[in-house]
Amino acid sequence: MTLFEKIIARQIPAKIAFEDDAYLAFHDIAPAAPVHVLVVPKRVIPTLNDLAPADAELVGGLFLVAKRVMADLGQSDYRTVFNCGAGAQQTVFHLHLHVLAGRPFTWPPG
Ligand code: AMP
Repeated sequence: MTLFEKIIARQIPAKIAFEDDAYLAFHDIAPAAPVHVLVVPKRVIPTLNDLAPADAELVGGLFLVAKRVMADLGQSDYRTVFNCGAGAQQTVFHLHLHVLAGRPFTWPPG
């Protein structure tokens, strides 16, 4: 079971921002910005490299959840990030969209 499946199953506590049948959004335990929410599909897909064409709608929906949660939190400017693979700092192998807000961002990212 992935860490995020345990959060979905309420075996590990998290500050939940949104939930429906397909997605859970919750606040990151080690926030990299004043607002840092993770949006995860309940169905486990380990990384972006594991996506199949049939997953397109599910993955697109992550952004609709992000938009909704940021609106709920009063944020209009934010950054969305997928880390794919250990070399890109992915540590939890259950697809998740980072949504960061509440501070200025720079480009390129580190
Ligand atoms: P990544 O490094 O892209 O795989 O992102 C995993 C994220 O999960 C990191 O930003 C962690 O801070 C976050 N994280 C790890 N454990 C928890 C937890 N129990 N609750 C909320 N977020 C977590």
